Amino acid sequence: KQFLREIPKVELHAHLNGSLNIESIKQLAEELYGEQTKEFAALCKRFIKFEEGAKMNDCFEKFGFVHELTATKRGLQRATELVIRDFAADNVIYVELRTTPKSNEKMSRRDYLQTVIDAIKSASKQYKIMVKLLPSINRGEPLAVAEETVALAVEFAQTEPDLIVGIDFSGNPNLGKFSDFTAVLSLARNNGLQLAVHCGEVDNPREIQEMLKFGMSRCGHGTYLTEADYAQLKEKNIPIECCLTSNVKSGTVANFNDHHFRQLMAADVPRVICTDDCGVFDTTLSDEFHWAMESFGLSRSQCVDLTVEAMKHSFATPQEKRIMQLLITERAK
Ligand code: 5GP
Repeated sequence: KQFLREIPKVELHAHLNGSLNIESIKQLAEELYGEQTKEFAALCKRFIKFEEGAKMNDCFEKFGFVHELTATKRGLQRATELVIRDFAADNVIYVELRTTPKSNEKMSRRDYLQTVIDAIKSASKQYKIMVKLLPSINRGEPLAVAEETVALAVEFAQTEPDLIVGIDFSGNPNLGKFSDFTAVLSLARNNGLQLAVHCGEVDNPREIQEMLKFGMSRCGHGTYLTEADYAQLKEKNIPIECCLTSNVKSGTVANFNDHHFRQLMAADVPRVICTDDCGVFDTTLSDEFHWAMESFGLSRSQCVDLTVEAMKHSFATPQEKRIMQLLITERAK
């Protein structure tokens, strides 16, 4: 575990609000409400079951918690900083954060994105970590919201081309139809944004084919992909972002041993190890590598190779990739 903590790591699939761990949620609540307030006391009561070992449904309740805490600019800014701090503490040298811009009476989607961008800029300097942002389309929300998100992403990417690098397509896979979103995703792609698409999280063969035909830069989860689908991804050098703990805890995969990561390794399909929601699922990128070593017998050098593979599939600039390569090989020695 010490070795895994120490190697420089590259995180390509992390949802912002899902990445705030329990200690940071507490810190944020304390900072926002003050320790002596009844709001803080009420939140602590809801914490208790997480500290006693959360069940799956409780995990999803955590999204609710965090969304309450990040519903103001100040809360969102601090949450972003804390998430970046926690990745840096795990020796993550590069992270791509995804988040769904949200609006409420205090904050527009534009404000949301601007707040996250400002927080990323200051925290990436403070914690010496490279950070990119992929605004997310939540497929459970109306198309008009996706259109606004992509318009904002395209606009912000003009002034922040090295920060806003793509669009994430996520949200409850049982809601919304992928085909309704292809026009807005094409618009993003035609404007130079990369596409990271949650694909095949549930058994929906028709949608999987639509998604593969449409194309993507990286495939999120890919749990229900077939051998033929793997061959397509391999030919196009599209990696599957594997999130072991998330898939097991959310029940889409029975246990670590049965995770499709095993087949991906055997068939040499491009794959990267990611956390998904390290706060909600109570994990770290080091822990994910640990489970991969335990379950699939990965050696230390295979872990380093997977980190290099993640670096290659990242949306970083060539210069940033060179820096990462140097840091990884130097430390791996
Ligand atoms: P946020 O976008 O609020 O920063 O991060 C949390 C959101 O990311 C969730 O509400 C959900 O829309 C999306 N998300 C997080 N984890 C997953 C996942 O495993 N699969 C899918 N499809 N969406 C997810």
